[in-house]
Amino acid sequence: MADEKTPLEELLEDELKDLYSAENQIIKALPKMIKACESPELKRAFERHLEETRRQVDRLDQIGEELEIKMTGKKCKGMEGLIAEGKEHLEELDEENIDAGLIGDAQKIEHYEIAAYGTARTHAELLGLRRVAKLLQQTLDEEGATDKKLTALAESVANVEAVQ
Ligand code: FE
Ligand code: FE
Repeated sequence: MADEKTPLEELLEDELKDLYSAENQIIKALPKMIKACESPELKRAFERHLEETRRQVDRLDQIGEELEIKMTGKKCKGMEGLIAEGKEHLEELDEENIDAGLIGDAQKIEHYEIAAYGTARTHAELLGLRRVAKLLQQTLDEEGATDKKLTALAESVANVEAVQ
């Protein structure tokens, strides 16, 4: 970006740094979720999303280079809160409901990402940053697909019959 930034450019920069922090927090949190879940199918879905998330960070690095901005140095407090709630669940839930609980936590995370990527994509478009908008859209599509997959898994892994 040029030296003199417009308010919208500054806002986009902030949004991108927030996403960079969010994705990196997810990379740290997912291995614990992978370890905790019972269903092999859910485990595989989380593993695949972890790989995908690493590529999403690469995409953000690419955007950072393109816009000549440093992506580090900001902490996404929204993601921090979502992950903290997930951690509480890991301690509270047992094998009967852990998968259902983890899926709920993961979907909250996906929805945060979907909102944040959608906003950043729109702002990039408005600023005429077509390549950046395209990269953000790619990740947005992946997050949307993950969310749908989790909804399907929620139906298959939930332990409807189990009693205390
Ligand atoms: Fe992501
Ligand atoms: Fe995600």
